[in-house]
Amino acid sequence: MIRAGIEALAPMDVHVVRHPLVDDVLSALRDRRTPPDRFRQLAHRVSLLLVAEATRDLPLAETTVETPLETAPVKRLAARVVAVPVLRAGLGMLDALLELVPQAQVGYFGLERDEVTAVARRYYEKVPKDLAAASVFLLDPMLATGGSAAMAIEGLAELGARQVRLLSIVAAPEGLTHLRAAVPDATVYTAAIDRELNARKFILPGLGDFGDRLFGT
Ligand code: URA
Repeated sequence: MIRAGIEALAPMDVHVVRHPLVDDVLSALRDRRTPPDRFRQLAHRVSLLLVAEATRDLPLAETTVETPLETAPVKRLAARVVAVPVLRAGLGMLDALLELVPQAQVGYFGLERDEVTAVARRYYEKVPKDLAAASVFLLDPMLATGGSAAMAIEGLAELGARQVRLLSIVAAPEGLTHLRAAVPDATVYTAAIDRELNARKFILPGLGDFGDRLFGT
């Protein structure tokens, strides 16, 4: 039912994070009976796993520290990390990024999709300066049509971002195809590639409206 392979979607850089803990969290996130408080915890947990994978190649700088016994060679993160959650659902992933990269700066992109046409509209934007020198992580849990993700990635590129990594908990093949055409150099990290979009542009089997489930609206 759920697509495992991403070969058909190459050459865009798509990473499906495979881990038993990811599968376990997804099973509960997908469950319609999961209440918002639990949904928030699960979204946080799966986001930690996505962030760990998406930060795997961040640069390190070698230095030393004094342990209680001697001088030890150590490596410290040498990247300036900027997290950009797409409002409002992306907020459900932000704490996970900040837990693992507490020094990250945070920008916000406000995008909403028209409930009838499903076309995204940018209504708010506030991001740190000098994105060119930063590793930018765009947080958007549901990659459905790809319209809002492409709009956000293009917007970040206009503001100077060179390489944007999109972290989505669930992706639809249609969204990945759209992104590949609109922003071929995007890098995507996701926990699952689902089957398809329905007529209302919801992901199937998906997990419903992420923002509504997160905030109990
Ligand atoms: N946004 C959601 O929250 N869920 C979907 O299935 C698609 C877009």
